[in-house]
This record gives sequence, structure tokens and C-alpha cells, in this order.
Amino acid sequence: MTALVCLASCPCSATDDFLSGTAVVDITPPGGYRMSGYFMERLNTGVRDPLKAKALVFSQGKVRAALVFCDLIGIGPGLSRAARTKITAKTGIPLENIAIAATHSHTGPLYFGALREHFHKGAVASKGKDPHEDLDYSVWAAGKIAEAVIEAARTAAPVRIRHGVASEGRLSFNRRFHMKEGGVRFNPGQLNPAIVRTAGPIDPAVGIIEFLSAGGTPRASLAVFALHLDTVGGTEYSADYPRYLSDELRGAFGKEYTSFFGAGTCGDINHIDVTVKGRRSAGEIGKLLAGTVRGGIEKLAAVKRPSLAVRRAEVEVPLQRYSKEEIEKARRDMELVGSNKLPFLHRVKAYKIMALQLRKSETISLEVQAFRLSPELAIVTLPGEVFVELGLAIKKGSPFSNTLVVELVNDAPGYIPTRKAFTEGSYETVNSRVRTGGGETMVETAIGLLKALKKDG
Ligand SMILES: [Zn+2]
Repeated sequence: MTALVCLASCPCSATDDFLSGTAVVDITPPGGYRMSGYFMERLNTGVRDPLKAKALVFSQGKVRAALVFCDLIGIGPGLSRAARTKITAKTGIPLENIAIAATHSHTGPLYFGALREHFHKGAVASKGKDPHEDLDYSVWAAGKIAEAVIEAARTAAPVRIRHGVASEGRLSFNRRFHMKEGGVRFNPGQLNPAIVRTAGPIDPAVGIIEFLSAGGTPRASLAVFALHLDTVGGTEYSADYPRYLSDELRGAFGKEYTSFFGAGTCGDINHIDVTVKGRRSAGEIGKLLAGTVRGGIEKLAAVKRPSLAVRRAEVEVPLQRYSKEEIEKARRDMELVGSNKLPFLHRVKAYKIMALQLRKSETISLEVQAFRLSPELAIVTLPGEVFVELGLAIKKGSPFSNTLVVELVNDAPGYIPTRKAFTEGSYETVNSRVRTGGGETMVETAIGLLKALKKDG
């Protein structure tokens, strides 16, 4: 079922200094762009807070790596390819050692995928040009992301690393539920009396890595937490709750401090507590999370022997297949995708079938990367919106004492549900492209990479 290509970076020498650099660029699109996140055309009306791309570069001996965290819903394959190619050409950091991650903000641009194609082509057909896309966002953002990495690489300096895991059990909820009428439903509504119980767990762990100057001044931190972003809403650009996490940490550690946020595997996790009426705002979530991260930072353990290495694999997994008739029906249904004339899951299915056509293949290559920072500490990156159970399985199978798992990296193949969820159905499985088992294959691959890194660490 799978073909595996495995690449290991050159070994570093543990006696070499571990260097890190950071840089932040603005990637806010022009006003009036279409916004991502929902199954309708939603036009931007302003900026609540700017969207950023934040670059984190590592180097030790001959090994170099870069992670970039972008305030976007996902990283389209075009953006990923363009940004990584440019970064490699300008910095020499190998393409395999570069991860471009999205935080999953639902208040950023709709710049790739089947829905964007539909609205964009419709505008061009009726008006001759698309008035909502003044610039090719993928090309422009790729340039900005590369700028950030070039600057981070240029300013890289020896750092001390500390790491740990904090626990945050108040903010995240599994959004899939067994219902009295039978079956599993996502987002059944608050105080719904037909809810029996949740269909899955959450992951309360907040993985934290802190970078300090050689003299001990806190410079930056990466926090990874499994909670879907979509807590702001509206039509203004916003980075959602991680913006408040950043504000709080910069308030505590100074304006030069960079707060990186990575989306943990939260394909089935959101901020809605069905046992109560109201919802927490983005500000409340960001500030509570910041308190947990700050508490966690106080208890971090120092990395004694940094040893940078990167391994990466591409796993080829089968995509779902549809008949000619089903594809034709989906094409017709796409005309109604922005309206309420079709039931929600019908619209989602039409969108998914059209998204599959854009792939032009019967399989998809899921790229998994593993970054070792020390014999105890690793970061795994995965494409797609990955179910929390899969991230938990990677952490459980990892030989590292602290493994941070970041989703939505380098590509956006929709949801990656578990085998169990595929048998249960509901929204996330309808809005998935991979066939059942693809997620579990990705988990095995990630654990394999981690074991190999542990062995030669
Ligand atoms: Zn989402």
C-alpha cells in the first residue's frame, strides 16, 4: 500500500554549537480578498490584527533546518513548493529540512483549493478578471516566507534550549459525539439533550520549547497545542487566539521575543463545551493558554547535549475514488456550494470531490518530517487536519521523552481521520481525501523516523 522514501540529513557533531535564528514578516493580504474557513464566499472588510509568518531556523555543524509558522488556514501545495524551493536556493537549507506550517486561522485568505477555484473562475468568467484577487497570494506569500527564513538564518546565534510539557485541560473539547438516535455527529450543538457521550479524547499536553541567548536571555518559544482555531469569526483578518498568546508572552519577556504557535493534531477538537451555553472568546482562550505556557516555562528542563538531525519520509497512500457520474453531480452541486440550497454535508461532499480532481492522481504523498533537537526532544510535522488520536499515538510510540506533533504542514489534504472515525462517519470523514488507514500509515511512518533518529542520536 505504501512506498517509502527516507532521507536523513548529514549528522551533526554534538560538540558544535547549536545556533538558532528567528524572524517575523507580515503576510496580510490586500483588503477585499476572499476569506477562508467556511463553505461560502466571504469577503474581507479590514484587519483585526495582522497575519504573520514566523521563521525559526536551526543549525548545528553541517545540519540546518527551518520551520515557518504562518497565520493561514492551510499551506497549499503551490505555496509550499514555491517557498521551500526559494529558501533552498537562497540559504542552502535542504528542502527536506524545511517545514512550512499553518496555524489554521479561519480569518485569513482563501488562496488555494476547490472553493477558491470555483469563486475565482466564476469571477473571471463573468467580469473578465477577479476583483477579489489583486495579487497571486501563493507567489507573494512564498517570497515573504523565504524573506523570513533568510533573515532568521542570517541572524542565527548560539542558543540554550529548554523544554517541557504543560497541561491545559480547560480549553479543548472533542467535537464528535455518540447520539441517542445512533451514530456519531460532529458539533451537535450546546446543551443538546440527544448527546450520549464524546466519541474521542482530547490532548491536554502543551509541548513547549524555549530558546535563550547564550547569556540566558529568553528570546523565543514554540508552544504546540491541539485546539482548532476558529474562535474569532467575522470578516476581518486575524491570527485568532495565538495572537493573544504572543501578546502575553511579549508583554512578559519583551518586544524582541517571538512566540511561535504550532497547531497540534486537532482535526476533531474545538473550543465548544457542549455542557454549557456560552463560548470562550479568542482573547480568553489565548490568555488562559498564555498563563499555562508561562507556568510551563518556569518548570522547563535544560537540554544538555543538543544534537540536531532531520529525517523525512513520503508515504504514498490511496485517495478516495468517485465515479464519472458522481464527479459530474459534484460539479453541478458546486454551483450551489455558497448557498443554503443544498444540505451542509452535500455541499462538503461536492467540494471534496472537486478537491480530489485537483490532485489528478489516485494516490497522495503524505510528507512526514521529524526534527531531533536533542536525545530527549523531537518535533514531528504532518500534513492535513489530523485527528487527535493519531497525534497521541505518535507521542506514545515515540522513544523521545518530549515529542511535539505539528499538523497542517507543507500540504493541505483535508482531514486525516482514524480508521474508527471512518466507520462512524460525519463531517470530518466526508471532508477527507485519504482512504481509511492513511492516517495510521502516517503514524507508523512518524514513529519509524523517530526511532531512527533516537538510534543515531
Ligand atoms: Zn478547520
